[in-house]
Amino acid sequence: MYRESGYGADFFVPIQYDEKKCIGCNLCVDICQVDVLLPSERKGENPIVAFPGECWYCGSCVMACKTDAIRLVHPLMNQVRWVEKDSLGSSL
Ligand code: SF4
Ligand code: SF4
Repeated sequence: MYRESGYGADFFVPIQYDEKKCIGCNLCVDICQVDVLLPSERKGENPIVAFPGECWYCGSCVMACKTDAIRLVHPLMNQVRWVEKDSLGSSL
């Protein structure tokens, strides 16, 4: 089960942790080049998403995690899939 961000519904957080899978190794913290993540104060718990607005969505933290405990959530505008206009039919 992925933990909610704790920042409130109006604050988009790109990284979600599965607290049952995370072992608190902090490999994801170490690999993030823009220091989005900080280690938890409690040993063995998932890191804190300290600066969510700085995330590049590079996926390095996801790839570094050996327990598959991170889910990267892209903003809605990044999820848009472009299609050729001609493929939409003649109604446009
Ligand atoms: S996706 Fe990239 S920039 Fe964002 S937290 Fe993970 S490693 Fe850092
Ligand atoms: S790399 Fe994976 S297991 Fe290690 S702290 Fe990050 S989320 Fe948890």
